[in-house]
Amino acid sequence: MHTKTVRDYIRTIPDFPHEGILFRDVTTLFADARGMRLCVDQLLAPFAGTRIDAIAGLEARGFILGGAMAHQLGTGFVPVRKAGKLPGETFAQDYALEYGTATLEVHRDALPAGAKVLLVDDLLATGGTAKAGIALLERLGAEVVGCAFVIDLPDLGGRAALDAMGMPVHALCAFE
Ligand code: IMP
Repeated sequence: MHTKTVRDYIRTIPDFPHEGILFRDVTTLFADARGMRLCVDQLLAPFAGTRIDAIAGLEARGFILGGAMAHQLGTGFVPVRKAGKLPGETFAQDYALEYGTATLEVHRDALPAGAKVLLVDDLLATGGTAKAGIALLERLGAEVVGCAFVIDLPDLGGRAALDAMGMPVHALCAFE
């Protein structure tokens, strides 16, 4: 009888990548066969009955989840990558980091206009990364039907920001 939840498989590492940061490490969740399956099943569960044409994943842990989710749903997978990684013509979107800015890119021909997409990443903090991903998918003419995360850090405001946009957000667990 298993009683471990997705949250129980996540490891917390203090002072990574900087002193004072508690890093939520999902490698221990992904490395466990039951944890990985539980996680993928639970990320998709609330979207049963929703039309989804593709899964889009945020680099890099969103790729691991998104590939498995796309396989399970029988859809394709679209990578939203850090700048300079995609070989074809891209759209680019800057977003704020704690110090400075970063850029995400998506291939201009990644999806047909009107495609319904579910966006996935491991963790939602300020929501800056997810908002940049949503903006890129919308520039393709796609409709983001929701965002799925393993972890929500509600104190950092990302959940509230996505809620305010009317974006359906699904997170499997939260850390205060
Ligand atoms: P946001 O843009 O502030 O919402 O930050 C979310 C992004 O930062 C995601 O792509 C996460 O993978 C990454 N991230 C931030 N903190 C953590 C953490 O503690 N563990 C794993 N990823 C994190």
